Amino acid sequence: MSTSFSEGVVILSRRSSKRKTKSSSSLSSSSSDHHQAEMDMKKLHDHGHSHGHDKSKSNNNNNNKSKRRALVSFWELPEYMKDNEFIHNYYRANWSIKEALFSVFRWHNETLNVWTHLLGFVLFLGLSMANFIQIPQIADLISLITRSFPISSYANVSHNSEDFIPQGTTNLIDLKQINTSSEMDIAPPLTPVTRWPFFVFLAGSMFCLLSSSICHLFSCHSHNLNIKLLRIDYAGITIMIITSFFPPIYYIFQCDSHWQFVYLGGITAMGIFTIVTLLSPSLSTAKFRTFRALLFCSMGFFGIVPAVHGSFVNWDNPKRDVTLAYEAAMAVFYLSGTGFYVTRVPERWRPGWFDLAGHSHQIFHVLVVLGALAHYGATLVFLEWRDSVGCLNINV
Ligand SMILES: [Zn+2]
Repeated sequence: MSTSFSEGVVILSRRSSKRKTKSSSSLSSSSSDHHQAEMDMKKLHDHGHSHGHDKSKSNNNNNNKSKRRALVSFWELPEYMKDNEFIHNYYRANWSIKEALFSVFRWHNETLNVWTHLLGFVLFLGLSMANFIQIPQIADLISLITRSFPISSYANVSHNSEDFIPQGTTNLIDLKQINTSSEMDIAPPLTPVTRWPFFVFLAGSMFCLLSSSICHLFSCHSHNLNIKLLRIDYAGITIMIITSFFPPIYYIFQCDSHWQFVYLGGITAMGIFTIVTLLSPSLSTAKFRTFRALLFCSMGFFGIVPAVHGSFVNWDNPKRDVTLAYEAAMAVFYLSGTGFYVTRVPERWRPGWFDLAGHSHQIFHVLVVLGALAHYGATLVFLEWRDSVGCLNINV
């Protein structure tokens, strides 16, 4: 770890020295060898190569081993890796799987892309586990409450046989009596609503974040793997968008399976169409960046329909504004993230300045995690609301 960070410092200091070289390029004072500097300038004009790598320019033809591990510039990249011309340096190209794996602890222009979504994955894994462990506790709590009903309402109707029936069996009998009771003045026990749509969303988010991290870490290996990983990455984004729809649609329209089916079916069909479309290799290229963003956005905009529908249906629900605020925050995070992804701001303003930190893709990654967290917050409110309300007094 310590060597990787010192390496990062070296890279950063090298970058600042290069900026100096660029600003005072006519003097070429940073180079000890004037002739070498002239050669570099010639290379710059010949290949549009604004600042080459110190190591590679001094000994280009020898030392194969160190060259394999050296970071290269945009202009030295194989064609398939030339995705963002505003990021000039610190690329890994054609690295072995092992080298790519261990580069997770090295500074290069994908380090923060990997870590932003890797930490996001760990965060969602933690949230999933916390909720998963909580379920039996909630179930216990609910059954504890429901047990109190039989005790209070049937306290005077004592059954002698109860003394001989195990506790669990008694509860089952009591619950059955309550459920089939025609006395509606006694509030029926509420069971917690099913959690699967919530876990579908968490699983979808984890899949997206993990596949994105893997894609950023290993796509430098080969053209073949690069194409495969990019497809998985796009499929991950699509799956995250689709699964995000499950909790709100399921819980809002829980008491009207018709709309549940229409909306969940609609978004799933859109998602499948998007995945199939993106499987075409030509659509994975830089040229179709905007097209991909539009596909993802159209799935997001699809959500406006059930959101407006759900808001009208639950117009008097006190939780309506809270969930809308959460979902609006999610929309702002996702849309601004997409904006960074498409425009490639800020690196387009200062090419070469944000190679290691602060470029658009890293900002996009952070906004995706924040958007997913906002949606997670909204989902908790939906769950709590549906747990407490059930399907009573709902006019959908
Ligand atoms: Zn990414």
